[in-house]
Amino acid sequence: MNLANVEMEKLVAAVVKEVLKSSGTSSPNAYGVFDCIVRAVEDASLAQKQLMTFSLEKRAEFITAMREAALAHAEFLAEMAVKETGMGRVADKIIKNRLAALKTPGTEDLKTEAYTGDRGLTIVEMAPFGVIGAITPVTNPAATIINNSIGMIAAGNSVVFCPHPSARDTSLKTVEILNKAIISRGGPQDILCTIKEPSLKAVQELMNHPKVNLLVATGGPDVVRAVLSSGKKAIGAGAGNPPVVVDETADIEKAAKDIVDGGTFDNNLPCIAEKSIIVVGSVADLLLANMQKHGAYLIQGTHLRDLEKLVLQEKIVEPGKSKYVPSKQYVGKDARYILEKIGIRAGEEIRGIVALVEAHHPFVMVELMMPILPLVQVKNIDEAIALAVKVEHGNRHTAIMHSKNVDHMTRFAKAIQTTIFVKNAPSYAGIGVGGEGFTTFTIAGPTGEGLTSARTFTRQRRCVLVDALSIV
Ligand code: NAD
Repeated sequence: MNLANVEMEKLVAAVVKEVLKSSGTSSPNAYGVFDCIVRAVEDASLAQKQLMTFSLEKRAEFITAMREAALAHAEFLAEMAVKETGMGRVADKIIKNRLAALKTPGTEDLKTEAYTGDRGLTIVEMAPFGVIGAITPVTNPAATIINNSIGMIAAGNSVVFCPHPSARDTSLKTVEILNKAIISRGGPQDILCTIKEPSLKAVQELMNHPKVNLLVATGGPDVVRAVLSSGKKAIGAGAGNPPVVVDETADIEKAAKDIVDGGTFDNNLPCIAEKSIIVVGSVADLLLANMQKHGAYLIQGTHLRDLEKLVLQEKIVEPGKSKYVPSKQYVGKDARYILEKIGIRAGEEIRGIVALVEAHHPFVMVELMMPILPLVQVKNIDEAIALAVKVEHGNRHTAIMHSKNVDHMTRFAKAIQTTIFVKNAPSYAGIGVGGEGFTTFTIAGPTGEGLTSARTFTRQRRCVLVDALSIV
């Protein structure tokens, strides 16, 4: 694009923005928060064109500003999210927000491929899609928006977010904070957009808007199904139900601590968190005793029955057919709060609840997102692997193993086919906490992109020069 074109684009963008403002569509101080999807997408489309007029160096500067702003507001947004949604733990949400700010890859993630030879030079560049429609969950509202925003803008896109209505305020505030940061470095206004009243209708409008080029959904099976049937390119980051397998060769005390740490982090809201424990019988007692030592409350007998009644609901899916779903009011709640509801006053050291159950128990099969860890004993590693595969429901999301036997690890990895497979650490090592590698809050198992980053949000473009510039 030459200078004249760039200036013309800027002029057109400014005029269109003024027209939109004068028609009462976009408030100058709204920082990307719109009354309706149509206007959000129109503005995001203009902002994306403006973004393309800046150098990559400047784009990296916007990313730095976003990281700084997210870090500065990590505590504020964590407190706001817990207060608004009633889910999770402030200290853990601070960690998530900081993680998203610090370990989400930026423009350095974009790589160019080159082919050179007798007939010249061909390069394949990672180019933006344009406007991305991003649908975000209630479980990690701020962290997902920080993470998606950095990755999607690094790739040269603008974004229209449709957040979960139950995390509306936190999500809108996060968009505002990040937009202010970009504007403070001279960046385009409204490169991140969202709407005042997010809803399922708004998601539909976003999916159907012709100027939205890519959809990215982070959430449960319904939203993934919805974006995949939209007729557009879609990335689906869906539900998980991660099993953790412990065999007789594991360091049992460490395994117990790691499982409690991972399974109670943010009260088990993360999609990657340990949701059930499958242990080889010979080490089950030792594992259980060590879990109790590290803050797990063992629940048994009538108390277990009371807990089942409290946190599970039977939902009719079709005439004559029902399934268990978690009672929403206990999702992401503290273990001590849940215990109190069934008349148990637990000490301050209690972070989680462990229950010895059978393989088919709903605590094992249902993604509860509560700090309740069902533990199933099996005879040997073969049974453990077979059950873990069943429990994971083919989500291809996350699995964890504690073992020192490389053959067991290999067999489990081949059988379970998950996007993330963590060995000998808490589940969160899989997204870069205490393990190597970058972070993401959008793990695209169903559509296969895996741990998403800037490069995921690009389209490949080939640029060919014939019979020149090959210097070998
Ligand atoms: P959710 O599916 O209820 O909502 C997620 C988003 O999708 C929200 O913005 C919601 O408004 C929208 N939505 C829900 N149903 C829809 C439909 N039928 N059509 C269009 N939009 C719809 O999920 P949640 O409770 O916010 O988050 C928890 C779920 O998300 C868990 O299942 C968890 O495993 C999963 N999750 C996955 C990842 C991942 O990276 N794979 C990350 C976080 C959460």
